[in-house]
Amino acid sequence: LSHAKESGRNRCRFYTDDMDNSGRIEMENALRKAVDRGELILHYQPKVDLATGKMVGMEALVRWEHPTKGQIPPYVFIPLAEEIGMIGPIGEWVLREACRQNKQWQDQGLPALCVAVNLSVSQFQYGNIVEQVKAALADTGLDAEWLELEITESIIIQDTEKVISTLRDLQMMGIRIAIDDFGTGYSSLSYLKKLPIDSLKIDRSFVKDITGELEEEETIAKAVISLAQSLKLRVVAEGVETEAQLHFLMCQNCDMMQGYYFSRPLPVEEFAQLLASGRDLFAGVRVNA
Ligand code: C2E
Ligand code: MG
Ligand code: MG
Ligand code: MG
Repeated sequence: LSHAKESGRNRCRFYTDDMDNSGRIEMENALRKAVDRGELILHYQPKVDLATGKMVGMEALVRWEHPTKGQIPPYVFIPLAEEIGMIGPIGEWVLREACRQNKQWQDQGLPALCVAVNLSVSQFQYGNIVEQVKAALADTGLDAEWLELEITESIIIQDTEKVISTLRDLQMMGIRIAIDDFGTGYSSLSYLKKLPIDSLKIDRSFVKDITGELEEEETIAKAVISLAQSLKLRVVAEGVETEAQLHFLMCQNCDMMQGYYFSRPLPVEEFAQLLASGRDLFAGVRVNA
């Protein structure tokens, strides 16, 4: 169960190994200053309910607007940030900014949606994530029910008892927890049963396999959906790009989906416009599908 992230990782390694040493150091130094210089921005991608076609949430995805190199995607700089110990401040900025923006949209009278924030394993492990989240909510005034945290399976390899109690603390506050990129890690299914989580996100690589032509291609997506259903977890498909994928997911009673078929991650202004046109935006798409 593990081919999914490889291309991303290789590209990243290729990128960094390929840079000469001074290029890399320059990049690291720039990244150290990126938060303070206000060079990070968030894009937002809608999460759509498959049964109603309504927008039911959004995921915040970070981008780095490098002053000379242009926009740098997270698969390049998040691993670099981990290596140089900058993931803490970057992750904290993302958390606060997503809460702040969500609260601002609510205050403007736009439909209230839950915002999902990606957490890296080290953020979860070393930072006091419960305190960080409490502070972010208190300072921005966002209610906990409008925040979801996405963690990957690799978190489960860490001290399981501590992970479970941290997740439980977060859930008690009213925050939702999702396992991201599900199926690409090495988590044992017995751990999965013990974890206090609300949803599983099927990795894009398995959704990509669905072309509508071969049943074998659908095997893993099907298995993950039925696993989630039997564990009474909500299931979200990532990377839905085609009508065939949408159709398959509807037939499997998958709960929610994200993907270019509906919308790419959008800059703040564009996402606000989308929100302003209402949560029913995609209902027509579903009916026609
Ligand atoms: P992820 O959390 O699994 O996010 C989904 C990724 O799939 C996003 O890439 C999104 O733009 C992309 N995507 C969504 N729909 C489609 C589709 O239909 N087709 C295709 N080809 N791609 C689609 P992005 O924004 O480049 O982010 C990549 C990864 O970087 C994220 O994967 C997440 O693991 C990480 N990341 C992003 N923002 C943050 C952050 O604030 N903190 C941390 N720790 N990681 C982040
Ligand atoms: Mg995610
Ligand atoms: Mg994912
Ligand atoms: Mg993914």
